[in-house]
Amino acid sequence: MQNQNRDNFTPNTKRIMAERVGWRCSFPGCNISTVGPDSDDPTKRINNGIAAHIYAAAPNGPRFNPEMTRDERRHITNGIWMCRNHGSLIDVDYTEYSAATLIKWKEQAERNAAEILKEPALEGNLKGSSLIQIGSKNILYARWKSIHQKKWDFEIVKSEIGNSCTISEYVLSFSSLPESEQYVVSESQGDARKIKDIELTINSENKNILTISVEDKITPTDPRKSGTDMAIGPDGDIFVENGSFAHVSGIENAKQMISICMSTLKGEIESEKDLGSLATEYYNRNSDDLILFSRLIKLELIRLSLIPIERNFNKELRPSLPFIKRFLEVSIVSKELIHSRIQASVKLEWGHGEQWEGLIPIFVLTKT
Ligand SMILES: [Zn+2]
Repeated sequence: MQNQNRDNFTPNTKRIMAERVGWRCSFPGCNISTVGPDSDDPTKRINNGIAAHIYAAAPNGPRFNPEMTRDERRHITNGIWMCRNHGSLIDVDYTEYSAATLIKWKEQAERNAAEILKEPALEGNLKGSSLIQIGSKNILYARWKSIHQKKWDFEIVKSEIGNSCTISEYVLSFSSLPESEQYVVSESQGDARKIKDIELTINSENKNILTISVEDKITPTDPRKSGTDMAIGPDGDIFVENGSFAHVSGIENAKQMISICMSTLKGEIESEKDLGSLATEYYNRNSDDLILFSRLIKLELIRLSLIPIERNFNKELRPSLPFIKRFLEVSIVSKELIHSRIQASVKLEWGHGEQWEGLIPIFVLTKT
């Protein structure tokens, strides 16, 4: 028997796992319902969902953790409810979907279900949608439909920045756009890719669907090998200690690189117009809504870490923050500036998937 060594969930555990997320897939942006009537039998229901293991049920399975006991492996806390497509996706590409990521998604899916329970009208509205960005001028709420690594499908819900005309324009003129505009960022996946091809269609339910072929993901580098630089002090100036310049290296340098990268205004450096972030632009336009502002900053962090840009000095295409794997959470609790900088509380995965969390100061130029 092949299944003897698997620490499977009991039927009761599976049912409760599904019920805790309202029988909806927990993959961010999917939200598909996994249960409904069996059309052939009025006494039965169809269940299209699966209770996926966060840490595998058997050795050699995805994310297997030998330290766990059998009871821990089949405990409800080790499962995440998914539709069939996403359940197999997280297992096929398990290096991309770490246990830490799945635990975050499970928590988010349970929070969404709790909100819908309190306020059923949220259902079907913007719920289950997340922000995606195509180029620098279009940010939209969309539902993630993809089940393929290299083809991303989104149902467009509404625009946050830009509108339906700017989206069509983007798609029509895509091949002639500068390379620095040919990218897509997905907030819920914490992922961003260079676009190979993009298409806008209308499906049978009259919904606008964006289909995007994306390039491969770049493997993150080790943040401990990020090099050495002069240390920046809390006031944003070069830090002097006992009369000489202080230095940062390794992890400390990696953290400082995130801060510097986000603090550079896009276009500020004359010779490298593609470099830098839109943090200042978002601060001046969106910081009265701290939730939206945090989400936009997250998009920007994802873009800078995953989208390769051409650098003048060696023409090699590489992202500005090559050691980042994904940003899990970004929150900015106050628009108050300290030394002209906002404080972003960040949770991320870098290198081989190690987690780090802490504050990243981001300089912004305020409108005067
Ligand atoms: Zn799904």
